[in-house]
Amino acid sequence: MAGARKPVVEVRRSQRRRRTVSAYRDGERVVVLIPDQFSRAEESEWVDRMLARLAAREGRLARSDAELLARATRLIKLYLAEHGTQAVPTSVRWVTNQNGRWGSCTPDDGTIRISHRVQGLPDWVIDYVLLHELAHLIVPSHNARFWALVARYPKSERARGYLEGVAAASGTPLTD
Ligand SMILES: [Zn+2]
Repeated sequence: MAGARKPVVEVRRSQRRRRTVSAYRDGERVVVLIPDQFSRAEESEWVDRMLARLAAREGRLARSDAELLARATRLIKLYLAEHGTQAVPTSVRWVTNQNGRWGSCTPDDGTIRISHRVQGLPDWVIDYVLLHELAHLIVPSHNARFWALVARYPKSERARGYLEGVAAASGTPLTD
C-alpha cells in the first residue's frame, strides 16, 4: 500500500544465528531476527530488506484470498458435502494479525480467517487447517462430532503433528 506508515521494528539479536535473517509480523510490530555479530550498518540494511520482503509477501497474500476460497470449496465437496450450505463460509481470508492461532471461525456470520503463518506450509497442512475451520461452521466446539468430521481428511493426524512441530520450533504456542 503506497503511503502506508512504517511499522515499529523490533530487532532481536541471536548468538545462535550465523547468517540467517528472518522477520515476521507480531501485531503492530515487525520482529527481525539477526545474527548477533551483525554490525549496525548490516542491521539497518537487513531491516530495510526484510521489511520490503514482508510487504511483498503480504501483497501476495492479499491476492490469494480467491485461491483460499477455491481450496475451501474443493474441501467442502470432498468431505462435508452432505452439510450443504451450512459448511459454506461467507468469506475466507488470510490474516496477519492472528499470531497465536492457525485459523479462526465465526459460525454466527460464517467467516473464516487463516493465519499468514500457515501460508508457507505444505498444501496438505493448509488443507487441514482450512477443513478444521470449515468443520467449526457445522460444530463450533471441539467435541467428538467435530473431530469425526475433521478425521474424514486422511492426513488430519499427520497435519496436527506437523503443526505442533512448527509451533515448538518457532517458540510460539499456537492453538487451533
Ligand atoms: Zn478448532
